Amino acid sequence: MVVIARLCSLIILLALGACVTTPVPGYKHTYKQTPKHTYQKSSRQKKAVIRYVRPHDTLYSIGNMFDVDYKLIAKRNHIPYPYNVYVGQRLYINRTAPKTDDPTAVKIRRLAFTKKSTSKKHARKQVKKKVTTHKKVAHHKKKAHSYSGKLRWPIKPVVTSKFGRRGSRMHDGIDIGAKEGTPIHAAAGGEVVYSDSRLSGYGKLIIIRHGKNLFTAYGHNQRNLVKKGAKVKAGDVIARVGHTGRATGPHLHFEVRQGSTPVNPIAYLPRR
Ligand SMILES: [Zn+2]
Repeated sequence: MVVIARLCSLIILLALGACVTTPVPGYKHTYKQTPKHTYQKSSRQKKAVIRYVRPHDTLYSIGNMFDVDYKLIAKRNHIPYPYNVYVGQRLYINRTAPKTDDPTAVKIRRLAFTKKSTSKKHARKQVKKKVTTHKKVAHHKKKAHSYSGKLRWPIKPVVTSKFGRRGSRMHDGIDIGAKEGTPIHAAAGGEVVYSDSRLSGYGKLIIIRHGKNLFTAYGHNQRNLVKKGAKVKAGDVIARVGHTGRATGPHLHFEVRQGSTPVNPIAYLPRR
């Protein structure tokens, strides 16, 4: 259990979106072989869509695609926080599902955030308390989302690709062009919760947690210079720019997340 919980907490990544949208010539799109979404009749819902996860899909981007709250998709498919999905995974999507912040998702999220508490009982108690009082949940949510601290640019800002929809996909961060080996600085102080290259597509990736709910991610690194568990200060050099993973050239893929939700980093950064 501990291992699973730990894995979960580290791999908020999975939800990370990717960088390369335009296909690299010669690159084989194996996912094209996966069937497109098909309508299926189930006993409960007449119109459930089946969608097979493709490379760089995230629950968030799929939710956007179908205009369905990704947390509802997670619930429908029994996917726990941090909502990791894998390529080829079959997802049932109820298109008629309303976009709501259902209490279960809140509960899951709370659970993830209260995991710091050493006492499981205590954590559960906290969750219960928060979930039962909707007003309170809303209040806490608002609080969590209104992170007032500013971030700093991890490298000199030459944004080559913006945050947001790119064709049919979401680009969950921004790309900042830089020479191979350029030092990457922590955008704010925090704890390194991930420093690895297991996530295909991102190459060497670092994720830092700032406070309770804010995360920054740095992908395609040539080298990661900090390890998981390290405490970093704003401006510390944490990695060097590279093009590991699926990247057409050296650049930094930079993401900011509120919990598992990608947000536009520009809103957190000083003007260029
Ligand atoms: Zn990118």
